[in-house]
Amino acid sequence: MWKLSSNENPAPTPPAVLAALVDAASVVNRYPDMAMTDLTQAIADFHGVRSEQIAVGNGSVAVIETLLQAYCSEGDEVIFPWRSFEAYPICVQVAGATSVPVPLTPDSRHDLPALAAAVTKRTKVIILCSPNNPTGPTLTEAEVRELLDTVPSTVLVALDEAYIEYVRDGTAADGKNLLAEYPNLLTLRTFSKAYGLAGLRVGYAIGHPEVLAPVRAAATPFGVNAFAQQAAIGALRVSDAALGSVAETVTERERVLDAVRAVGWSVPDAQGNFFWLELGSETARFVEIANQRGLLVRGFAGEGVRISIGEPEANDEVVELLREWRPAKGSAARVRE
Ligand SMILES: *Cc1c(COP(=O)(O)O)cnc(C)c1O
Repeated sequence: MWKLSSNENPAPTPPAVLAALVDAASVVNRYPDMAMTDLTQAIADFHGVRSEQIAVGNGSVAVIETLLQAYCSEGDEVIFPWRSFEAYPICVQVAGATSVPVPLTPDSRHDLPALAAAVTKRTKVIILCSPNNPTGPTLTEAEVRELLDTVPSTVLVALDEAYIEYVRDGTAADGKNLLAEYPNLLTLRTFSKAYGLAGLRVGYAIGHPEVLAPVRAAATPFGVNAFAQQAAIGALRVSDAALGSVAETVTERERVLDAVRAVGWSVPDAQGNFFWLELGSETARFVEIANQRGLLVRGFAGEGVRISIGEPEANDEVVELLREWRPAKGSAARVRE
């Protein structure tokens, strides 16, 4: 079975990162560095920011969770685009806040005016996702600026950029470039995707020191384990090697998209390591047929299917499936033009 359902990085772990894991194994009788000093400093150095501007957690999902717990109480509202990352409504619920999902536009992008218009007195956080998981398009810098200029500066804007390393659209936002101008903005990054460390659980936010102080304070003590800390430091040290697979994935992404669009599929812009098929009522049947061909894909019942870019052989199978697949008669799936 080819696992194309979790947007994982199929590349082997770089030797330097494996070596860091082996080294960490010899000191597991000790607690990890509670303040994550070295990792935080390594991330700060990598991005050219101060360590106070970084908050590390057990994956960026945990950072989102901690952020919402730190800033929201019951009845507070958190706005996010929908469909987007499945973790958002769960994190909002855990924080005891209220989810305000704002539907995507018909071309599977964030509806920025609607997101801004959804702000009320109870709004504490707006989450943005660029590239949007599961649909693929990015936000432009102009769009993010306009939103930040529109919403009150007391509302935090969390820009989730889990796939930013895969982005090749020059107009796309890079949250880091806007942090100095907008203290209420923070960007979320992860080692799970481009760095291929999903199993270790490390992610972080970059933002204003005052905004992140409560997030750092609310983090689970010793939450990020010694393996995760050392591997992430190792990955940053050899970041060119660690990110070596990204260029290949981007090349594969363009090859797959060209091939499936050539046979008539309508696919939104895909700037991450995955793409989206709006299959509507055909979703369940498509997932089943993909499974029968050895392809594990992520279906969202009644909406569509997200397929990760994997090994070239797996991608070939996907292209073959999409070449052969026919919608059931009378279905409204946006599959062929
Ligand atoms: C995968 C992903 C993450 C990363 O989650 P981790 O907890 O860091 O593994 C965050 N946001 C989005 C949109 C994702 O798809």
